[in-house]
Amino acid sequence: MEKESAVLLLFTGGTISMSEDPTTGALRPIDFDRLLDYMPELKQTGIRVKSIPFLPLIDSSDVNPPVWEKLANIIAENYEEYDGFVVLHGTDTMAYTASALSFMLENLSKPVIFTGAQLPIGMMRSDAKENLMTSIEIATAKENGQAIVPEVCIFFEDTLFRANRTTKKNAEHFSAFNSYNYPPLAKAGVHIKYFRSYIHYPHSGTKLRVRTKIDQNIAILKLFPGITEHTVNAILQIPNLKAVVLESFGAGNAPRRIWFYDALKEATERGILIVNKTQCSTGSVEMGRYETSLNLVNAGVMSAYDCTTEAIITKLMYLLGEYTSVDDVKHRLSVSMCGEMTVI
Ligand code: ASP
Repeated sequence: MEKESAVLLLFTGGTISMSEDPTTGALRPIDFDRLLDYMPELKQTGIRVKSIPFLPLIDSSDVNPPVWEKLANIIAENYEEYDGFVVLHGTDTMAYTASALSFMLENLSKPVIFTGAQLPIGMMRSDAKENLMTSIEIATAKENGQAIVPEVCIFFEDTLFRANRTTKKNAEHFSAFNSYNYPPLAKAGVHIKYFRSYIHYPHSGTKLRVRTKIDQNIAILKLFPGITEHTVNAILQIPNLKAVVLESFGAGNAPRRIWFYDALKEATERGILIVNKTQCSTGSVEMGRYETSLNLVNAGVMSAYDCTTEAIITKLMYLLGEYTSVDDVKHRLSVSMCGEMTVI
């Protein structure tokens, strides 16, 4: 007889688990026991589902690195017992948490599927049930005894994405996420169609290794026409700063002002890592393609290629937490560690 499939559900909160406060009308988390009452289907799946709530359930704007660490540790502690893991999480920062987990869970060979909802579970037209039930199915999907999607993913509406390629794109539509620079891993209709050539499979025999050290001493410097020297310097002079994500224009371009070049060069010489990430959703940074990015190369700025902001932020936090040598961090920044970017 085949062994029954088992999934561990980790509830962190988000709209999926909220209801309207009768006095203020604002959405706030409901208690966990009531949440499961809305989903009798869970018991009928034939899949053994165990849930762990992170009480109190929280809006994902309040999720921070200790929550990432807790998720990674619980997955590691229960790794052998379950076929896959589903994380219920608010959509606002889901792409950050899911990206962080993709770096923290090294040699992952089981699915970790993040999902949530745009409408609370108790509402008539809620997308919660479909998202959750399909995520559970994907988390247990196997072929020849191997997980079909052994990656950290986000499933939303009808699409499965690699987590570290996703961005929340819409605050209202059920289709809330997109992966602009990498194709979906699966589409769910009557059947779930997996696009195996895009899925990453680990080398067999490698053991899960969890790394949860995080360094939060990073900042984002988003360029805009007219940005002042004062603003740039204020960011680059933040005490204990270790890295900056420079959100540039187009293919990685920035103003050619001397003061701007000098400020970046002085910061990289002080050991601050500066990584160039385009403000465009689609496409890659190509430093040196235009004159306006040549200066950045000379100032010691590195490329984030086609990484999302969510992936490059969490990758930097993870690398700076795990590695003390700047050369180690730089080397890992320049390669794709778990499919988060395409190096050109
Ligand atoms: N504010 C909510 C959250 O991120 C939105 C959602 O879940 O869709 O927790």
